[in-house]
Amino acid sequence: MSHTRRDFIASSAAAALGVALGRPVYAFAREGPQGQAVFTPVRRNVGTFTMRGGTVGWLVNARGVAVVDTQFPAEAQALLAGLQSRSNNRGVDVLLNTHHHGDHTSGNPVFRGIARRVVAHGMADQHMRRSPGASQPQQPPQNAPEPLYPDTTFTHDWSAEVGDERIVARHHGRAHTSGDAVITFERANVVHMGDLMFHRRHPVVDRAAGASMRNWMRVLEQVVNAHGRDTIYIFGHANTGLPVTGSSADVLQFRDYLGAVLAFVERQTGAGRSREEVMVMREPLAGFEVWGPFGQPGARDPLTVAYEEVTTGS
Ligand SMILES: [Zn+2]
Repeated sequence: MSHTRRDFIASSAAAALGVALGRPVYAFAREGPQGQAVFTPVRRNVGTFTMRGGTVGWLVNARGVAVVDTQFPAEAQALLAGLQSRSNNRGVDVLLNTHHHGDHTSGNPVFRGIARRVVAHGMADQHMRRSPGASQPQQPPQNAPEPLYPDTTFTHDWSAEVGDERIVARHHGRAHTSGDAVITFERANVVHMGDLMFHRRHPVVDRAAGASMRNWMRVLEQVVNAHGRDTIYIFGHANTGLPVTGSSADVLQFRDYLGAVLAFVERQTGAGRSREEVMVMREPLAGFEVWGPFGQPGARDPLTVAYEEVTTGS
């Protein structure tokens, strides 16, 4: 028995126990060493899958199966095997992609002929088709399978009943890219944020694909305002050892981090510092030390993008 299967059965048993006792199971997957498949129930038939790449969300209830994001091909095989054993091989009613990046979509082809629909925001679909593999934080292997693109796209929102759950995908405007979707499992009261949430770590900001840090802050506020106090949020990424799920307080803390990066750059440019001078100021931000120092300058580096936004006004 593989690790994947054993872990899945263990978490299925825990979930079954929780249901039998009539209370939700609060087990939290953590971002750890990558490469081990871990299924973690979150609430009311919704859970997370972590292995390598962006956190996957899943729904398996008596009449339906849904998946949010797919990581990479090998990881998607482990994901699919776990879902099939939990659902008696019922197939997948809907596969949703939160955005186009390869660490969230490269596993899509594993669901070819298994997912009845593939749903994403229209811009995510365009980004995927324009640059398969080109704009990914982690490149797929050379022998990557033929991509599986969305067959259903939306501009503002999309929704469907999947068994006894209602799933809503909503676009709130430019943030991590120009095609981000927030996926809400309404009855479970669980929200998959995709890469709108980097939990206490520096985010990828894909300005070439339409990202906006300033608007990202507004998007996070909108999402929190659109949900309740005990909504559980699934994060696309978390710093090592930190949970990939959390609360609205975590979402608003990330908004504050984005604001702090922009404010820091504004102070430096306001004091007359040059681009070169600002780009080397990579020590942790006051109040956000747990994020650690900034990484390398580059097109997707938050400090670089903040400088662009502050100096161009957009
Ligand atoms: Zn991303």
